[in-house]
Formats: sequence, structure tokens, C-alpha cells
Amino acid sequence: MAAAWVRLCALILIGVSSGTALAKDKTPTAIVVGGGLAGLTAAYELQNKGWQVTLLEAKAGMGGRSGLATSEWIGNAKAQPVLNQYLDRFKLETLPAPEFVRTPGYLIDGEYFSATDLATKQPATAEALKRYEKTLDDLARSIDDPLNPQATSTLFALDQINVSTWLDKLQLPATARQLVNQQIRTRYDEPSRLSLLYFAQQNRVYRGVSDRDLRAARLPGGSPVLAQAFVKQLKTIKTSSPVTAIVQDKDSVTVKVGSVGYQADYLVMAVPLRALAKIQMTPGLDAKHLAALRGTNYGWRDQLMLKFKKPVWESRARMSGEIFSNTGLGMLWIEPALKGGANVVINLSGDNARLLQAFGDKQMVDQVLIRLHAFYPQARGAFTGYEVKRYSVDASTGGAYLAYGPGQISKYWRLWERPVQRITFAGEHTDALYPGTLEGALRSGQRAASQAQDLLAGKSFDPAKAAPVAAAAAGAAAKENKGGFFSNMFGGSSDKSGKAEQVPAKTEAKPVDEAKQDKPGFFKRLFGGADKPEVKAEPIAKAEAVAPVIAPAPAPAPQAAPAPVVKEAAAKPAASKAAPAKHAPAHKPAQKPAESKKATAKSEPAKKTVANTQAKAG
Ligand SMILES: Cc1cc2nc3c(=O)[nH]c(=O)nc-3n(C[C@H](O)[C@H](O)[C@H](O)COP(=O)(O)OP(=O)(O)OC[C@H]3O[C@@H](n4cnc5c(N)ncnc54)[C@H](O)[C@@H]3O)c2cc1C
Repeated sequence: MAAAWVRLCALILIGVSSGTALAKDKTPTAIVVGGGLAGLTAAYELQNKGWQVTLLEAKAGMGGRSGLATSEWIGNAKAQPVLNQYLDRFKLETLPAPEFVRTPGYLIDGEYFSATDLATKQPATAEALKRYEKTLDDLARSIDDPLNPQATSTLFALDQINVSTWLDKLQLPATARQLVNQQIRTRYDEPSRLSLLYFAQQNRVYRGVSDRDLRAARLPGGSPVLAQAFVKQLKTIKTSSPVTAIVQDKDSVTVKVGSVGYQADYLVMAVPLRALAKIQMTPGLDAKHLAALRGTNYGWRDQLMLKFKKPVWESRARMSGEIFSNTGLGMLWIEPALKGGANVVINLSGDNARLLQAFGDKQMVDQVLIRLHAFYPQARGAFTGYEVKRYSVDASTGGAYLAYGPGQISKYWRLWERPVQRITFAGEHTDALYPGTLEGALRSGQRAASQAQDLLAGKSFDPAKAAPVAAAAAGAAAKENKGGFFSNMFGGSSDKSGKAEQVPAKTEAKPVDEAKQDKPGFFKRLFGGADKPEVKAEPIAKAEAVAPVIAPAPAPAPQAAPAPVVKEAAAKPAASKAAPAKHAPAHKPAQKPAESKKATAKSEPAKKTVANTQAKAG
């Protein structure tokens, strides 16, 4: 196999060197690896600039981490400007969100509260949430420039602290803390695994953007619809094409997919970090990039859509919109009836999702149903089926989305925004302002495309620099620490013991096993108990016995998994003839581009069929 690959490269390289004379007027070529929204955007933007682009996607379908169809909330142009631009460009219509779902609600022990209800019926919890929000806002305000969150040594020090430690200092009442934990683990990751600086930076980015802006509309069909709109525009897409190796040389980039090779002038790498770690790169990435591949934290979040014949919650609560539960069901919301019946999406996140990785889909659904049934007795009888998306254990994702752990901004901040030779990087994880969102993915695709254009024009990018604030700053921070900075940051606690104000020596997020040990009693917490650690983790086998009141009804078989959105375009083998240049480059290359190749592994733009087999509106 290896020998064949070497032979293939040799063939390609022979082709490269024989075509120098033709290179100048040649259409620039790019390979985009990854057919999520970032890769799709990069491919679309490059194609629009006159490049010949081949998009390689590992899976049979396009769209990557697009959520369960219909589930995305769309922010307005203030909250998600780039997303809204593309929605306009592709004439995709959104449904305005009803007013009552635009602000979050709370499900406390099975009872629904709007923010207004909470203030009158549970004033202590409402007060505590307000105090938390105010303290968080103060923290966010301390960052002047969210693109440079560690501008000062004091801010740098926040990166060494986890969010849970900060929350402990706020001493919130139990219910408020459970709700806050749930919100944070749904949006990012478990508070104990999250850098306080990252959390503050993200709140700085969204400062002045209200929940109403963020949940202004829904896109019928969800983000897969946007993915398809891109797909329709692109000329060459090859699905079921997992890239396993990449070789860069002076003039070109060669990519291996099984026994097939592709070659282009530049490459946009738009796969999540864990997937990138599996691709063999020649020359190899430097130590810092390799450490980032392994060490950058991803939040965990799995989604279950439970389908019911009719709403089971109406009689007991006005469940709708985005709701944070204190009973371990995570964030949930009622779907618009686009798929028929009455559907609720339940998001299990953070360590809750990590621990559930041992469960099969049906077991996981059963556990959730048991808990729902406790509050909504008709739940089992009305249950008709489910869909599950497990981003956490998907090898091509390795988690839901980027969520910097303690110490990681200091090490890896904006690392992937710099090209490495002929490769530019895209993906939500490469966007400094909006990671973990559609907006971030789209923005990153635009940036990576424009960097490829810059490279073509001869622009060089500085090699990645070391973290801007060095260890010395940590020392300075410790000094300032004495001056009360952390007291202020931690919500004005009068605790001057200094213990909690020390920058913790150990900054790495804990591995799952440790979390298990630290946070036993998980099922109690997850499904209806207090949010308090117990002494020992309950073994998985015992999980079923936690709520034995109702025997788990046999859950109907899962609905067919969403089928491929796009059918594979005919892939050309490595040694196929170069496709004729169809598009003039937007700019003339200032730098000598790659020569044309006789024996090049070129993919021709191929006609593709678009088969949308996503569940249709009912
Ligand atoms: C549960 C959940 C809910 C979300 N909800 C929202 C929301 O409501 N609003 C919002 O704005 N954002 C939301 N997001 C975030 C948003 O979905 C992502 O940020 C975005 O889809 C990421 O796009 P991407 O292109 O960076 O990555 P991906 O979509 O992961 O694309 C990467 C692609 O690369 C492919 N790939 C991997 N390895 C290879 C390889 N070796 N060769 C070829 N291809 C490869 C993968 O198969 C995948 O298709 C949510 C995410 C999750 C997980």
C-alpha cells in the first residue's frame, strides 16, 4: 500500500515538473477537505473567485455537524451576520420565532417557569440567576478586545482557572447552580472543563446581543438546508472520500483517499481537530500544532429527538422554546411540527453525555423517557419513535465543538488561523469569535478561502508565534491576585483567605474517568437528583434501576438515520488527465503556481445528483 502511494506521488510529481511552461495562465486549483459548512463555504467562495475546486467529504452525505433537521435557531443579522447573508443569497426563508420562545425558560422539578414566572414564584432562584449574570457581565466587560482576550496578565490568569471554581465562589443556591451548570454545559462544556477566560471572552463577544437576537428565527429543515444550498452551487464534490494523507511540496499539495490521489495548488483543511489528527501530513505539523490536535478540549453534546403522537406536556406545563432543566434532561425544546406529531429535542451535554457514551441509543432514550414520564405520565403511551445524534463519539468530530479548557487559550489561541505552507484551515474551531456555531463555520470558510487567494498572490504568513503572554505574566497575575483582582472577578466575595484566589497549579481538564470518580451519583444528578457529587459513581448496569417506578416500555425502533444529502460524484482516479481550465482566475497569480501535470491525479468537475432524503415536513 505504502509503495503504491509512493509510486503514485512519483507519477504526480513527474507530471508537475513537466508542465512548468503552462503554469502561468492556469486556473488555480484547490482541494477542500471536509463537507461541513466551513468546507462548503470555502469551496463556494474559491469557486466564485474562479478557482477549480474539488471538495472531498469522508461521509456519504454532506453538511457535517448540522444538527437534527429543524433544530437550529437562527440569530438575526446582529447576532449572526454572515449566516444571514448566505440565507439571503440562497433565498432561504426562515420562520420568525414566536415571542415566547425567544427568551429561555426553566424546567424546575418538572414545572415550567418563564423568566417572569421565576421572579414571582421562585424569587431566590431568580435573584441568584441575576447575580450570576451581573457578575459574568462584569467579567466579560474586563476584556476590551475579544480577539485578544489575554491582553493583560490578569486576563491571562483567568485562562488558568476553570469556570466551576469561579461558580463555587458565587455560592449560588442549589437550584440556580443546577440551572447555570446546565446552561453552560449545553452551550460549551462541563464548567469544570472550561477555561474561565474562554467563557468570559465568549460572553464578551455576545455582550449586547440579547437572547431575542440569538433566537430570532428558525430555518425550516435546519442547517442541512443551508448545506444543500451550497452543494447545489459546487461543481465537484466527492463524498465517501476520507482523506488519509497529505503531502505538500514546493508547488502543490497531494491528497490521498484510499488508493486515489488528488493534487491541487492549495488545500483548505476543514475537518475538526480530532479528525485532522488522523490524517498523515508530510511534512509533519510542528509540536505546537500536534499538541493542539490532541489537547484542545471539545464540548460534548448529544441530541435525542423524542417523537410523540400528541403533546404530553400541555396539561402540566407550557413547554416551548429553549428550556434549561434542573433535572438532568439538559436543554430541551419543543420542535415546530415540521416532522409531524409533537417532537421534543433533548440535549445531553458535558459529563452527562460523556457518561452516557456507554449506553446504546435505545437505552439512552429509555432513560430519558423514564424521567419524562415521571413528570408527564402520558409520555410512554404517546411515544412513537426517536432520532439520536451522538456527536460526542463520532470519530469524524470527536466532540460537539471547540470549548477551550483551562490553559488552552494561552497555548493555542488563533493557531489555526495561520496557513501551514499551502494549507489554510477552516472549521468552527478556527474562528476566534464564534466557535461552536454556524456563524463561526461560515466565517472560517470565508477566511480560509481568502487566505488561499492571498497565498496564490504571493503573500506569506508569519509562522505561528508562541502564546502572546508568557509564563512571566502568570507570576504577575499571582501578584495582582493579592491586590484583590480575583476577589472582584469572583463576584466580590469577602473571602480573603487567598486559597480560592490562587491560580490553580493544575490546569488541564480532567479525563472522563476522573470525572466519573469526582462526580458519582451521576444518574441521580442527571435524572432528577440534586446537583451534588456523591461518593462513588454508580455503575452503568445499575442505571436502569435508578427509576424503577415505571418499567421501560419497549421503545419503537429508531427512525432511519438521515440518509446522504448528496450522491457521490464520479471520482476520477489519480492518474486521470488534468481537467481543462474552465474558469479564469479572479486574479493573476503573482507567484509561480504549480505546473500542469500530465500524470496528475486531477478531478474533473463532475455533474452530481442531489438527493435530499432528510425527513420531510409532515
Ligand atoms: C448538537 C449540536 C447543536 C448545534 N446547534 C447549533 C445551533 O443551534 N446554532 C449554531 O449556530 N450552531 C450550532 N451548532 C454548531 C454547528 O453545527 C457547527 O459549528 C458547524 O456545523 C461546524 O461546521 P464545520 O464545517 O466546522 O465542521 P463539520 O460540520 O464537522 O464538518 C467537517 C466535515 O469534515 C468531514 N471529515 C472529517 N474527517 C475527514 C476526512 N479525513 N476526509 C474528508 N472529510 C472528513 C466530516 O465528515 C464533516 O462532514 C451545533 C452543533 C452541535 C454538535
